[in-house]
Amino acid sequence: MSILIYAESVEGKFKKTTFELASYAKKIATEAGTTLTAVTVNAEDESALGQYGVDKVLSVKSDKLKAFNAKAYSDVIKQAAEKEGSKIVVFTSTTDSLYTAPLVAVELEAGFASNVVALPESLSPFTVKRTAFSNKAFNITEISTDVKVIAIGKNSFGLEEAQADAAVEEFSPSLNDNDFTISVENVEKVTGKVTIADAEIVVSGGRGLKGPENWGMIEELAGVLGAATACSKPVSDLGWRPHSEHVGQTGKPVASNLYIAVGISGAIQHIAGINASKVKVVINSDPEAPFFKVADYGVVGDAFEIVPKLTEKLKEF
Ligand code: FAD
Repeated sequence: MSILIYAESVEGKFKKTTFELASYAKKIATEAGTTLTAVTVNAEDESALGQYGVDKVLSVKSDKLKAFNAKAYSDVIKQAAEKEGSKIVVFTSTTDSLYTAPLVAVELEAGFASNVVALPESLSPFTVKRTAFSNKAFNITEISTDVKVIAIGKNSFGLEEAQADAAVEEFSPSLNDNDFTISVENVEKVTGKVTIADAEIVVSGGRGLKGPENWGMIEELAGVLGAATACSKPVSDLGWRPHSEHVGQTGKPVASNLYIAVGISGAIQHIAGINASKVKVVINSDPEAPFFKVADYGVVGDAFEIVPKLTEKLKEF
């Protein structure tokens, strides 16, 4: 048996989260004394996975799978797991992987744990540490089924190089026509912007910025830092920013290395979604704003003075 990962790619390219996933799963494979296999769908340069310890790649190429389809992708991954006799299947926590992983678990009659943030505490019994209650607590979950499916939290492990062969093998799983009842004809994408999901740094604005016309300074700061922009819920509800930027309990979760909150009070529902970020910085004119209680660094002051100064200073580096 080998450990299997679903090595997700975007337009054929692997992202850092996929390499993190490989690094993580390689540790489990080494501990279990087995090899690490990756299944890829329409990926390019599969051999790059070898740098992070992947021994073998099952490479699926199919026009039918060009657009993401959770059911079809889960069929592919299930067949890869069966072919390899994999008892542990590991996913990352992108939106697509989190759609797919539970379906794979159902098809393999496997127990499933998401939000896994550390290597398994033990392989037998199989126990993993997970975050709970919007990252405020941890729990240790035991998966007792023969096959185990887990999804690791973004940014919870890091990259570790472990040179391996990544021998690429063509894999042609059977595809069920019933899985393709909806087809995506065209995808329009915003180019040149860092998405919240991929961002190492996020600059986020709240109602303290008074109106959409003031977002230029947030975008400029984000541009200098190579960061994604985000916002609080009222800001997107008011239509100042697109809903895709709304972060928090009811919005997108953020697990960046650095989260800079500008003019955001720090309501519990906002913090719930950004708790997994490693370093949190707040800029707020009210020293009593709740955000200061959870922030690693805080600046008390007027965002309209501080943000342009910060941006100018950062441009010097
Ligand atoms: P405000 O609370 O109005 O805070 C604005 C802040 O800006 C204040 O702290 C103020 O001191 C500061 N400020 C004002 N002027 C300046 C200045 N010139 N310079 C610097 N600082 C300044 N919210 C989310 O964000 N995400 C969610 O997912 C979410 N889900 C929710 C789910 C439910 C069920 C409910 C009930 C609420 C949810 N909320 C969510 C809303 C949440 O409770 C807060 O109302 C919201 O986060 C507040 O947004 P804000 O901090 O931008 O605005």
